Amino acid sequence: MSQEKVVVIDKSLPMQKIFEAEQSWLSCIGCGYKTDLLDERKFRCPKCGDLYDIDHNFDLLNKTLGDYIKIFDKRAALSAYQSDNPAIRSGVWRFKEWIMPFMPDNLIITLNEGIVPIVRAGKHLQNWVGDIELYIIMEGMTPTGSFKDFGGTVMMSVANAAGICAVGCASTGDTSAMAAAYATAAGIQCVVILPKGKVTAVQLAQPLVFGAKIILLPGDFDDCMQVMQELVASYGVYPANSLNPARIEGHQATVFQIAQYFSWQLPEWIAVPVGNGSNCSSVGKAMRLMERFGQKKISRILGCQSEAANPLGKSWNLAQKDSEVALEEWKARYGPVKTGETAATAARIGSPVSRDKVMREVIHSYGAMQVATERDLNEAVSICGKDGHFVCPQTGIALAGVRNAVKGGLIKKGERVVVVSTATGLKFAETAAAHLQHNIISVSDCKTETVAKILKR
Ligand SMILES: [Zn+2]
Repeated sequence: MSQEKVVVIDKSLPMQKIFEAEQSWLSCIGCGYKTDLLDERKFRCPKCGDLYDIDHNFDLLNKTLGDYIKIFDKRAALSAYQSDNPAIRSGVWRFKEWIMPFMPDNLIITLNEGIVPIVRAGKHLQNWVGDIELYIIMEGMTPTGSFKDFGGTVMMSVANAAGICAVGCASTGDTSAMAAAYATAAGIQCVVILPKGKVTAVQLAQPLVFGAKIILLPGDFDDCMQVMQELVASYGVYPANSLNPARIEGHQATVFQIAQYFSWQLPEWIAVPVGNGSNCSSVGKAMRLMERFGQKKISRILGCQSEAANPLGKSWNLAQKDSEVALEEWKARYGPVKTGETAATAARIGSPVSRDKVMREVIHSYGAMQVATERDLNEAVSICGKDGHFVCPQTGIALAGVRNAVKGGLIKKGERVVVVSTATGLKFAETAAAHLQHNIISVSDCKTETVAKILKR
C-alpha cells in the first residue's frame, strides 16, 4: 500500500502563522508533552499515548472575569439583530475568548449553532424527578439535531485554519451528521466509513444530504474504525471523532450558556449522559477555566450511564467508601465492559475514549456517577413527551440519573440542576414510538360513530 499522503496542508494559503506557538497549543493530559495545534493529526501523545487538551495563553488577553462577562453579555443582547459576526450569531463563538481566542474570524466555519433554549422542567417531569429546581438545555435544537454541533464548529474551523482537505469518521450517528454538515460548509471533503447492511436509512440520511462520501465496508463497525484510524495515521485524513480536542473546546459553550442564563451563577449540579465522555470532559474544563478567572462556585457534575453500558458508573460504585470516591481507587476499579442492548445506542460504549478526562472532571467538581435502568431512561423520554419535549434516550439516561440522585439524597431538596439534552428525539423516533405502540388504537371499520364511541370512553 502506498504511504503517499493524499491530504496535505495547502501551502498556497497564507495560513502558516495563524496561531503563534505561544497563543494556543496541545498539551498531553498524561505527561504534559506540548505540540502544535495545527500540525497534529493523530491526537494521541507520542510519549505516553494519552489524550491532548488544548491550552491557550489567556495572559495575552489580559482580561478579568468581569471584562469577559461584559463582552459576552453584549453579544447575547445583539444576537436578536442581523449580523455577519460569528461571535454574535453563534452561541458557541459568543464565548470566543474562552473557546478559541486567537482564531481569525474569517476562518470560522459556523452554521449559527448553539443558541439553544434552556427550559424549566414541565410539571410531569418535575413530579417524576422530585422536589428540585430542574432545567434542561436543549442541545438537540442545533443544525444537525445534536450537541455535537457545539464542537463541530470549532473542530472544522481549526481544520480550515490548518488547510485540511478531508475529514473523516466511522460514526453511525451524530458525529457523521455533524462532520458532514460542517465539512460541506467549509468546502472540505468528508468521508464516512460504515459497515454494510448495519446502518439504518435514518443514520445515512444526514451525511447523504450533506454530500459526504459514504463508503460501506463488508465488515463490522470495528473494521470501519480500523480503516479510519489508518487513513488518519497514514493518509492525513483529519479525524472528526472525540479524540480531537478541538471539539471539546466548543462543547464548553454548554457551561458558558448555562452560566450566562443564570446571571453567571452556576447551578448546584450539571447532569450529562456519558458515552465516550466528551460532555463530561468539556463541562469540567469549562468550569475550571471559569475558576481560573475568579468564578467562586462551580457546579457538581453528575455523570450518568445506562445499565447496558456503564464502565464508569460501575467502577464508581465499586470504588465508593463511606460515599466518597478517590480518583486512584476509581482508576484501579475501572475496566471496559461488554455492552448490552439499550435504547440509548449513542451512549452504548463499553470503553469510553475520554474516560481519564471524565474521571478528572467528576472528581474535581465533587461530582458523582449514576446508573440508570433501561425502564427508567425510557420512562423519562415518555414523561418529557407529556410536557411537549421530545428528547433522545441519552437525555433519558441523565434525567433518570438525576431522579436516582434525588431519591438517594445526593441532590438535595430545592437544589438547581441543569440536564444536558444531547439530541432531538426525532433521531430516535422508531425506538421512542416502539415503546408506546400500546397507546395506538386500531378499529375495524371507517365509520365516524366508531371513532366517536372511542373518544367518549
Ligand atoms: Zn503524554
